[in-house]
Amino acid sequence: MSYVITAAAPASLAIVGTDARFPLHRIYCIGRNYADHAKEMGAAVERSQPMFFMKPADAVVTDGADVPYPSATQELHHEVEMVVALAHGGHDIPVERALDCVFGYGVGLDLTRRDLQAAAKAKGHPWDMAKAFDHSAPVSALRPVAAIGHPAHARLTLDVNGERRQQADISDMIFGVAEIIHELSKLWTLVPGDLIFAGTPAGVAALLRGDRFRAELAGMAACEGRIV
Ligand code: MN
Repeated sequence: MSYVITAAAPASLAIVGTDARFPLHRIYCIGRNYADHAKEMGAAVERSQPMFFMKPADAVVTDGADVPYPSATQELHHEVEMVVALAHGGHDIPVERALDCVFGYGVGLDLTRRDLQAAAKAKGHPWDMAKAFDHSAPVSALRPVAAIGHPAHARLTLDVNGERRQQADISDMIFGVAEIIHELSKLWTLVPGDLIFAGTPAGVAALLRGDRFRAELAGMAACEGRIV
């Protein structure tokens, strides 16, 4: 196979304990997956119907790298989230088999142009400009299931300039990891290399140039960076 232009190398993430990397296919995100965050955004909690959106795989920023402040916004917000990486995919995956698809876990930021998101919501427009911009997905190295299993409880935290901004336990998620995979697989055929952002708790707020952040999933993963 030859291409008429130079093909971009796939975006990838580091894996704790090996030099091999995790190649990325797609990034799926769930919205409103913690009741306290849905409330702070003025949204109803809909237990029956998860709300999904996507980011491009090359929006990933790896641990330790600088994050350029995005264009076209005056209100860049952080959303700390558990990240789930898939080693297997499929369509219509039953809840009981969903965790078998997971390669490992990490932590990341679903960076958001909150002003553009508010404008999109007001007009009933799509969220892509608010969510799927370049460098909008800082993510830690992944920790394989072989090392940590499937955590039912874990402290999810975000510190900015050394101050705690967000904290929750992943057991507070409205849709758990297995349910998210099950629901996503009704809408898309999931593929090895897919990444899922599992939603953010309350405390979302602005990031400014010069801010240093540290996202952590206790005992499993951490991601640090600086807004420049
Ligand atoms: Mn989010």
